[in-house]
Formats: sequence, structure tokens, C-alpha cells
Amino acid sequence: MVKETIFSSIIKHVIPADILYQDELVTAFRDILPKAPIHILIVPNILIPNVNEIKYKHEKTFGRMFTVAAKIAKQENIHEQGYRLIINCNKHGGQEIPHVHMHLLGGIQLGPIL
Ligand code: AMP
Repeated sequence: MVKETIFSSIIKHVIPADILYQDELVTAFRDILPKAPIHILIVPNILIPNVNEIKYKHEKTFGRMFTVAAKIAKQENIHEQGYRLIINCNKHGGQEIPHVHMHLLGGIQLGPIL
């Protein structure tokens, strides 16, 4: 049994968050500790703990995460200058919350990842 995280509570509106977008597949909200002027998390509504657990049946959801990321980047007016999408996986990837999520980071010149 996979344990729900704080993200499930945000998706169900049980705890507050600055939700920018929600549909039947994904929810997007501002990161509580932003690492850039724009830092938004795009999260599948169903609990998939990490990228290793993504199955073929989830492809529509992960496609939606990208289209929502692009839509929000445009809304935030960072689409022309650019932004970064990151999905961390497990310990070495720096994943803290075991509910897979995409970081959308922008609004500043980002440094190299490595
Ligand atoms: P990761 O390290 O990839 O698992 O990223 C987890 C992210 O979730 C971090 O950037 C946190 O700041 C963010 N976070 C944790 N709790 C909340 C919350 N309640 N609302 C919004 N973002 C959160």
C-alpha cells in the first residue's frame, strides 16, 4: 500500500495551496519554498510514487503534465525567455516527496545543473 503524501491533500483541497490549474489528470500549484522567482509543481492527481512506477497506462497523464507546463509558462510570461522542467527520482535524484511531480522553474537565468 502506497502512503499518501501532502500532495494528495493539496489535490483534494484538504490543505491550502496556491493552485494555478487543475483538471481530471493533473494539478499545478506554487512551490511553498520557491528556488526561483517562478517555481510551480505539476503533479498527477493519482499517487505514483516516482518515475520508476510510471506505466504505459499513465502516458496520457504525463503528456498532460507537459502541456500544462507549457500553458502555465505562457501564463507566467516566461515562455520566450525560457524555463526548466525537472523531475527528481529517489534519493540520488533529490526527491523528497514520494508523489511524482514536475518542477517548473523560471523567471531568472538558471545555472547549469551539473
Ligand atoms: P522534491 O525534492 O523534488 O521532492 O520536491 C518537493 C518540493 O515540494 C520542494 O520544492 C518543496 O518546497 C515542495 N513542497 C513541500 N511541501 C509543499 C507544500 N505544502 N506546498 C507546496 N510545495 C511544497
